[in-house]
Amino acid sequence: MTRRDDLAAGLAATRERIAAAEAAAGRDPGSVELVVVTKFFPASDVRLLAELGITDVGENRHQEAEAKAAECAELGLRWHFIGGLQTNKAAAVARYAAVVESVDRVELVPRLARGAAEAGRDLAVLLQVSLEPGADGRSGAAPADLSGLADAAADAGLDVRGLMAVAPLGEDPAAAFSRLSDIRVDFLRGHPTATVLSAGMSGDLEQAIAAGATHVRVGSAILGSRSSVK
Ligand SMILES: *Cc1c(COP(=O)(O)O)cnc(C)c1O
Repeated sequence: MTRRDDLAAGLAATRERIAAAEAAAGRDPGSVELVVVTKFFPASDVRLLAELGITDVGENRHQEAEAKAAECAELGLRWHFIGGLQTNKAAAVARYAAVVESVDRVELVPRLARGAAEAGRDLAVLLQVSLEPGADGRSGAAPADLSGLADAAADAGLDVRGLMAVAPLGEDPAAAFSRLSDIRVDFLRGHPTATVLSAGMSGDLEQAIAAGATHVRVGSAILGSRSSVK
């Protein structure tokens, strides 16, 4: 098998899982979008994924993402930044990312807005919400802070599309995503157009789709284990 065959097989299997989860949840076929997480893997893989029809890729580290986005510039991909974002890197990320999914504090907002404006681009953002009890702010905003964060982002000219979350390690993802679903219902009351819900990875995409995810972020199920390339 060539690398292209491997990736095609991983994509086909992942698309089948998504389709089965959509059907099980009574969701429309094709209603859940796939973001392929390419962190640790080379730009050559990103190129093959683009040939296989992928339009959205996710990265979690600024330096790696910036380099790959530059190497793959002519492919017209949408880059999703999904990692913890340092304040002093936010403006730089806004210059190549189409979507920053990990906005978790107001401090990031003016810097993202400035980077996007300097690059002459519109920037879509998702607010990352922590599903940990007693959130310490490192893995996302506390649910109570989401509404204010959304207002600050919108006031700065960012396009607030919705929420993103990661299920905490060691907890049943179905329970975590069920909390997320309640958080989202509350959030949508104040921000009815911010309907995106990015949740679910290789290990828990079924539970996320059952809880209303509109986007799943899948890496290892498509590209293989990252430990082999670290
Ligand atoms: C790495 C990563 C993913 C993909 O994880 P897999 O288990 O490889 O599918 C999804 N979301 C975030 C935020 C990540 O950092």
